[in-house]
Amino acid sequence: MTRPQLEAEVVIVGAGPAGLACALHLARLLAARQLPADNIFLLEKARALGAHQLSGAVMDPRGLAELEPEFATDAALGAVPVSEDALLLMAAGRAARSPITPPPLHNHGNSIVALSRLAQWLGAKVEAAGVNIFTAVAGRELLFEGAHLTGLRTDDKGIGRDGQPKSNFEPGTDIRAPIVVLAEGPRGSLTRELTSHLGLRGENPQVYSLGVKEIWELPAGRFPTGRVLHTLGWPLAPHLYGGGWIYGLDHNQVSIGLMTGLESIDPATDPHDLFQQFKTHPWMRRLLAGGEMLKFGAKTTPMGGWHAIPPTAGDGWLVIGDAAGFVNSQRLKGIHLAIKSGMLAAESIFGTITGEGRLQDYPDRIAASWIREELWPVRNFHQGFAGGLVPGLMHAGLQMLTGGRGLHARYQAQPGHERMLPIAQLGPAPPRTAADNVLTFDKVTDVFHSGTRHEEDQPNHLLIADTDICNGRCVREFGNPCQFFCPAQVYEMVCGDDGAPRLHLNPSNCVHCKTCDIMDPYQIITWVPPEGGGGPNYTG
Ligand SMILES: Cc1cc2nc3c(=O)[nH]c(=O)nc-3n(C[C@H](O)[C@H](O)[C@H](O)COP(=O)(O)OP(=O)(O)OC[C@H]3O[C@@H](n4cnc5c(N)ncnc54)[C@H](O)[C@@H]3O)c2cc1C
Repeated sequence: MTRPQLEAEVVIVGAGPAGLACALHLARLLAARQLPADNIFLLEKARALGAHQLSGAVMDPRGLAELEPEFATDAALGAVPVSEDALLLMAAGRAARSPITPPPLHNHGNSIVALSRLAQWLGAKVEAAGVNIFTAVAGRELLFEGAHLTGLRTDDKGIGRDGQPKSNFEPGTDIRAPIVVLAEGPRGSLTRELTSHLGLRGENPQVYSLGVKEIWELPAGRFPTGRVLHTLGWPLAPHLYGGGWIYGLDHNQVSIGLMTGLESIDPATDPHDLFQQFKTHPWMRRLLAGGEMLKFGAKTTPMGGWHAIPPTAGDGWLVIGDAAGFVNSQRLKGIHLAIKSGMLAAESIFGTITGEGRLQDYPDRIAASWIREELWPVRNFHQGFAGGLVPGLMHAGLQMLTGGRGLHARYQAQPGHERMLPIAQLGPAPPRTAADNVLTFDKVTDVFHSGTRHEEDQPNHLLIADTDICNGRCVREFGNPCQFFCPAQVYEMVCGDDGAPRLHLNPSNCVHCKTCDIMDPYQIITWVPPEGGGGPNYTG
């Protein structure tokens, strides 16, 4: 097949805070030397900027203040300053406000933002700076010459479920570029291709949490705008990493959510169900009574910290933001780090273009920046919780006293899926929360509230290497955890003609959280982008 060919100077994949910051900073650096930015391409698989952006989100302003100092006063962004913060300790049926808010959860000086709005706001500036933004275009495949990355191929449009071209078929474009920046967010599909092609890894494997979130409108005056609460404990079992949040937005709305570590020993762990349970706590029930759920979303976030960051620069490529793992898991914050890493990448690219530096300067810039200053002291934080909440808190305390070291220079980590125990070693799965469609919702109803839409007649984008494993071995060994960990009911076990359980897929429900790619115990599921433009339509 003949594919359209394009040439670019720089291609950035992903228009989240990292990719947008990289594009904007680079365009401005070039403009200061009277160099054009129209040969920078920014690709985003969502149908509109911001539509695949999901976050809490309480933003540390440090990154954005360097990129766009006037952000705090720009009504178009609508950033709300945090007015108070607290930690709520939860047990079944009880909740108590912690007498102290641990320093990592202090949020004074931070702002509550809607990440999708931030992406649109930054996107307008990126476009004005002359960068070419292509929405509804997914980077589908990397183009290598040996170990040298030479560009990428975008997704084909108009291929039917049967793999045959339809009347609207348009082949993907081969974009050749000397510099490709991967800003795909957590568990990027091209990032995974790059790391596996080049055999790249961090010192520790990356581990993830899944955040399940709803936006509610509450009766007026119920929860103040600017209040930030984090919760610890119930409904998460003591062996499970995670916690909840309640952030007071404008217009009597709140962002509520639960982060669940994707490293549970129990294959029946269902982060969506845990979030529904969370809302049935008497404290949450009182908060949400008389309110209305408006929006839903779910997305993963990397938690492995400094030791899990793979090489971030090489021959023709850079990796920035969540795709590299720049997240402070202790503070649950990554937006400012994504922005800063994008800016530092832009400086290295600028140096390469002008002949004053090289792409490979980027890791050194990271190491000399406040990204390392912030992440190094928490390098062992998440790993300290491998034995559960209580040992985790003890490790965290010790690490704070020893500049992040704790008991070991580097705490080891294990990929989350490897921690899963066979069902034979566990008791029966706990009962699930019944959806009442007022306080609690099933996955399909929640997916509806994420605005998710895909072209139905397209090839399945969840590539399963061997469904016999799903329908046989996995039934016996792990009880098909995909039906539990997926927050969008993409994976279902149905009764086959022979009465045996059969995997049934609903790919059009997919909210692009990537949990299946991360958590499948046999690592036989590969998430690839569906036809560009499909997916959720996040607005908050
Ligand atoms: C539930 C949740 C709550 C969070 N809360 C907070 C918080 O309160 N404060 C905070 O600071 N951080 C928070 N974070 C983390 C923060 O959202 C991330 O660190 C930040 O968004 C990372 O930015 P990024 O640009 O690297 O990636 P992303 O924001 O994930 O953006 C990546 C973009 O790339 C696009 N993309 C991916 N693959 C392709 C492809 N192949 N082709 C084209 N486009 C592609 C995606 O559609 C997406 O738009 C939270 C994260 C989650 C999941």
